[in-house]
Formats: sequence, structure tokens, C-alpha cells
Amino acid sequence: MKVRFAEKYVRTNKRFEVINISHMAEEVVQESGIKDGICVVHLPHATAALITNEYEPRIVHDYLQWLKENIPPEAMWRHNEIDNNAHAHIASAFIGATRIFPVRNGRIVRGTWQELMLIELDGPRTRRIVILVMGI
Ligand code: ZN
Repeated sequence: MKVRFAEKYVRTNKRFEVINISHMAEEVVQESGIKDGICVVHLPHATAALITNEYEPRIVHDYLQWLKENIPPEAMWRHNEIDNNAHAHIASAFIGATRIFPVRNGRIVRGTWQELMLIELDGPRTRRIVILVMGI
């Protein structure tokens, strides 16, 4: 079995932002030479999240609208007494910061409209993306 560990970085520019990182994970899988296995993508952060879905400008807008409506940053969150980003912790906690994908024939198995996206919830910041590929 082969294992490939990689770290990538992205700089976010806004408080809320959706960044397509599919190519980063695909790149690590290709470099690894692994044909069949799994790819783990992980954000070692408490105020960002990872989703898999369509990356199209209107739906990207809707993801953020949904988050702002359902986890309003201006609500009376207790954590906001400390650093004013409770909404980001809550969204990261419930959406999750890790995704696991099957790898087959040297590529991540994804549907036509499935992209892998980092959701910045408390930017701008530099975000680290950990990518682990295991297989044969
Ligand atoms: Zn905080």
C-alpha cells in the first residue's frame, strides 16, 4: 500500500467565501501514482468547512445565503463575547471539516457536478488543506 500526504494553502479574501479546491485534491492523487484507494481531505481549522456539490455562481451564492439565514452571525451567540465568530464555529462543527472520497483509476470518484469546496466562514485568512491519499 502507498501513502501520500500533502498540504496546500489558500488565501481567502472575504469573511464568507466559497473556494473550489477539487483540482488540489486531484493533483495530489495524480502525483501519488495511487490508482485505487481513498483520498481524505481535511481542514485543520475550527471556522471553515468542506462541502461537496455543484460549483456554479448562483448556487454558490445560495450556500452562503442559507448559512447567513440559518446561522446568523449577528445572533446573540455566547462565543461572540470572545471573538465574534460563533456562526463560523457552529457551521464548521455541523457541516464538518473532513471529507473522504473513493479513488478509482487514479482519479477521485465524483459525479459530473460534484466539486470539492472550502467554505470560508471567518475570513480573510490563510487556510491549510491536508490531503492524504492511501491505496495501491
Ligand atoms: Zn472563535
